[in-house]
Amino acid sequence: MASITLDNVGKVYPGDTRAVGDVNIEIADGEFIVLVGPSGCGKSTLLRMVAGLESITDGEIHIGERVVNQIEPADRDIAMVFQNYALYPHMSVRQNLAYGLKNRGTPKAEIERRVNDAAEILQIGQYLDRKPRALSGGQRQRVAMGRAIVREPAAFLFDEPLSNLDAKLRVTMRLEIKQLQKRLRTTSIYVTHDQLEAMTLADRLVVLNGGRVEQIGTPLELYRRP
Ligand code: ADP
Ligand code: ADP
Repeated sequence: MASITLDNVGKVYPGDTRAVGDVNIEIADGEFIVLVGPSGCGKSTLLRMVAGLESITDGEIHIGERVVNQIEPADRDIAMVFQNYALYPHMSVRQNLAYGLKNRGTPKAEIERRVNDAAEILQIGQYLDRKPRALSGGQRQRVAMGRAIVREPAAFLFDEPLSNLDAKLRVTMRLEIKQLQKRLRTTSIYVTHDQLEAMTLADRLVVLNGGRVEQIGTPLELYRRP
């Protein structure tokens, strides 16, 4: 686990579009932060900067003791969950779960232990030998989360992971993520435009507007405010 600090973070895209400015957030070890705000407010840019997928124009982002811009991609101890699942279609669920670990040279027995643990947590044990196309949307999203969990990363980054699912499944998966969070207590940043998702999951909410932090607080604090 790790704390994440955003210190005066800003992003200007080529062509002078300022997507993010003056963002200061201190995320504690094990805290679950939800970024909310209208489309185009900079949520995804901010998340991608923490992930090291986007360069940082101003300021610094620290994960634990380390500065994000200075960590080699292979050493980044974070795992991302996307809305499009990003599963490998030609691989079984088991192979999808094991792939990242194999690439990192994790010993076989350790891979097996982590894959089985993740399968148990996510209740996908009976699908391990299926290909992604033989799974429902919800099962695929569980596998996508499984791929993040097996890494046992210092932090999870979620980019609207439930937005491709139908309304009923979103409710189920929202509660499952809540359970997961209670069990693992891994530092997380979660991007969504769904109010209910944000309120259910967040230890603290960060409301962005025009690339800047408009409000920050617990769901109760923000809900009470007029
Ligand atoms: P959100 O995730 O909240 O919808 P984004 O981070 O995607 O917001 O976008 C923030 C702003 O940056 C928007 O004005 C968007 O048009 C702009 N933007 C995003 N990605 C790029 C890019 N690759 N090049 C130029 N502008 C971009
Ligand atoms: P792993 O399974 O170990 O996460 P991947 O090969 O899936 O390894 O991903 C390698 C890197 O590429 C990761 O840092 C991940 O965040 C990023 N990545 C994976 N899928 C996508 C995607 N659809 N869009 C953007 N980045 C991605």
